[in-house]
Formats: sequence, structure tokens, C-alpha cells
Amino acid sequence: MPSTPASAPAHRPLPKAELHLHIEGTLEPGLAFTLAERNGVTLPYATEDELRRAYSFSDLQSFLNLYYALMEVLRTEDDFADLAHAYLARAKEQGVRHAEIFFDPQAHTSRGVPLGTVIRGLARALDAAPEAYGITTRLIMCFLRDESAESALATFEAARPYLDRITAVGLDSAEVGHPPSKFQEVFALAREAGLKCVAHAGEEGPAAYVWEALDLLGVDRVDHGVRCMEDERLVARLVADRIPLTVCPLSNVRLRVVDDLADHPLPAMLDAGLLVTVNSDDPAYFGGYADDNFTAVRDALGLDDATLRTLARNSFLASFLDEETRAAYLKELDAC
Ligand SMILES: [Zn+2]
Repeated sequence: MPSTPASAPAHRPLPKAELHLHIEGTLEPGLAFTLAERNGVTLPYATEDELRRAYSFSDLQSFLNLYYALMEVLRTEDDFADLAHAYLARAKEQGVRHAEIFFDPQAHTSRGVPLGTVIRGLARALDAAPEAYGITTRLIMCFLRDESAESALATFEAARPYLDRITAVGLDSAEVGHPPSKFQEVFALAREAGLKCVAHAGEEGPAAYVWEALDLLGVDRVDHGVRCMEDERLVARLVADRIPLTVCPLSNVRLRVVDDLADHPLPAMLDAGLLVTVNSDDPAYFGGYADDNFTAVRDALGLDDATLRTLARNSFLASFLDEETRAAYLKELDAC
């Protein structure tokens, strides 16, 4: 089992759903060292402290370098199960009742880890989650958009035997220069197979990428999407179609989408009537899990209790939960 302790907020966190969470981005320094030792992987950091200091990167490239270097420690089914268990233990402390978890198959298959190893390991922890942590889950398989469309198609075909474990497909990694249009074919196949669709769009990329995600990929939800605010017509479309946006405030600051959390467009997005949710993205690297993000926006943007409740409510409304479970969680939120 993972050695990293779960962090608990000082207050009682609101029940919420986490809808934008990369499982690879939950790898804490302690677990990275444990897994490196277990698998005989030499990390380019001598001590856990040195690694911990590397987590305070200041730009996208140094983040990605660290992110991919550490992925080397994830090799076996046990590793993926331990990674997911460590996340779920932390999520529980943060009031997360439901988590829709991204994973990046190509980041693992490209280094020789079979897709089945990744999915079976994650699924083992996710299957145990309702009883062990009181958390329901869904799994979302993401394509790396800086890889080719052919690679995404091959990944989808390889995943066919596991589609009963997968609720949706997504699109992540470096956005600029890799528009959603590049992945129309694989998203059409996913929809045909009955999967939901989401895509990162309008984070560092322009509002035009959000249009493409809607019109060409048919997404049910947009990940990030903050730059929709640059296009009034797009905002109107997102509001009219009730398309949820999974916003990640601490990530936006860390990756310089906004300079300061106090300048974050979240309040303006809520005022515009968008179905906005607050999420943690890659929490081990970006400074906080789900409730840490809630607390950060409360403090930086002066959000009142009613607004925080709206955000928690939105997280369940925007989820891929069945109606019965969704209603139960909303009732739980109303009661606390
Ligand atoms: Zn993300």
C-alpha cells in the first residue's frame, strides 16, 4: 500500500464530484520513491527532498519533464492500483464522493507497459473504492493530442476488449497546434461504441478549439474551457446546451493560464450562466486536491457559501452518474 499520508482540510469539506483528474498527476514524491525502489528504477533525484523541490517547477516544460520522468516508476498492475488507492484516500479527505478519472494509455504503452496492465491495476482500486472510501468512480481514457491521429485510433482499437470499464474518451496534453479536428475519426468511433466524449479545449488553446470540440468531436463536457470567455457567441452556445466546463483553478495559476488566482474568470463564468465545476487536474504537481481548489478560490475570489454550494452541486450535475446516484449525492449535499 502507498506510504503517502492523506491530507485533511481543517474544515468539513462539501460533498463533491471530481471531474478533471489525471491519475498520473496524483503521483506524490513519497509514492514515486517507493515505486522506484520496488521496480529498481533510478530516478534523476537523489533523495525524496530533492524530488519534492523539483515539484515547485515554474513552467509547462519543466512540469512535463518531471511528469514523464516520474511515470517510469509505474510498471505493474500493483503500481497502478497503489497509485489509484493513494489518490482515493486523499480524495475522501477532500469530500470527494464521486471521481471521474483520466488516464493516458499512450504514456504507458509507449514505454512497454501493456494497456491491460494499466486498466486492470486501476480497475482493481476503483472496484474497491465504494466500500473502502465511499467513492463512486468512472474511468476516462484520454488520447495524447501531441501524438498522431493514427496512434489515437490504434489505442482505441487496443482498448476495445476493455470498453466495459471505460465511460468516456478524452483528449489531453499540449493543446496548441493540436486542434480537436485532428481526432474526429477516433471520437466518432467512441461515440458509435456508446462512450461519452470530453476534451481539453480553451486552456492554452483558443476559443476556436472549444467550437471544434463541440461541433466536430461532439463532446458532452469541455475540460478547462476558460478561454470561451473571449467569444460571446461561444458562451451563449455553452449556456444554451448546458455543456459543463471542468475548470482547474490552481492548475491555471501554476501553468500561467492566469497570472494570479484573484484574476481568475471563474466568477464571470458563473455570472454568465455557465455550468462551471472546480477540479484539481494534476494535484500532486499543482498544489492541491479538490477541496484545496475550493478553498483557494473561496479565499482568492471571495466566494460565499452559496457559490461554493453551487460549484459542488454543479459537479454532480456535470458528472456521468446515473440519475439515482446523482439524486442521492445532491440530497447529501443539501443536508450538510
Ligand atoms: Zn487536465
